Amino acid sequence: MIDTYRHQGLRRKLVESVKSKGIIDERVLDAIGKIPRHFFLDSSFTEIAYQDKPFPIGLGQTISQPYTVAFQTELLEVQAGEKILEIGTGSGYQACVLVEMGAKVFSIERHRDLHKRSKALLEKMGYYPKLFYGDGYLGLPAFAPFDKILVTAGAPDVPDALLNQLNVGGTIVIPLGGSGNQVMTRLKKKSETEIEKQEFGHFRFVPLLGKKT
Ligand code: SAM
Repeated sequence: MIDTYRHQGLRRKLVESVKSKGIIDERVLDAIGKIPRHFFLDSSFTEIAYQDKPFPIGLGQTISQPYTVAFQTELLEVQAGEKILEIGTGSGYQACVLVEMGAKVFSIERHRDLHKRSKALLEKMGYYPKLFYGDGYLGLPAFAPFDKILVTAGAPDVPDALLNQLNVGGTIVIPLGGSGNQVMTRLKKKSETEIEKQEFGHFRFVPLLGKKT
């Protein structure tokens, strides 16, 4: 795994591209600027790794488009030291962005092979979020409550378990809707009974699936 000047140059251009699309949180941009995205793809896809596009990572899943990663992360308003739960580890790239921003990251993936692959890669890269193989619909009751929850697959609705495992004052960012067309949604838990909802445009995610494979 080598991160050359060429990769770093491509990465700077990627950061500029994401910034030109409206991302303003410098800490998000810094994280994207630091993480070698080409490590997450096969070595023959170095150029593609630094285009602002999603890309297949096997098992019908994708590493999200960098702009989408940046957009969700910005909406989450991450602060250093926060405990954040991610649903859908996938490649592990988003988890690295959150770790770079100083969060304590927990992430769940329902595909055993993707879970194993991302765990091995992130350890090699020196990132140590807590990665779990399991069903994100259930959250992680043993580690709750969380300050923030980030769902990186399209969900028909907000799983109750996730709302229950969120601190009062906490935030969930989740793409809500049917297959292939979701509305990016931010929910803030104002009290045990009051949820504030904001919507931020349409996105396209692979679906959040119920059962483990
Ligand atoms: N965050 C990922 C990254 O940085 O590469 C991209 C996530 S990909 C768009 C969505 C992921 O959610 C897939 O890896 C998929 O297997 C996973 N997923 C779908 N349903 C799930 C569930 N119920 N629990 C956990 N993971 C799930």
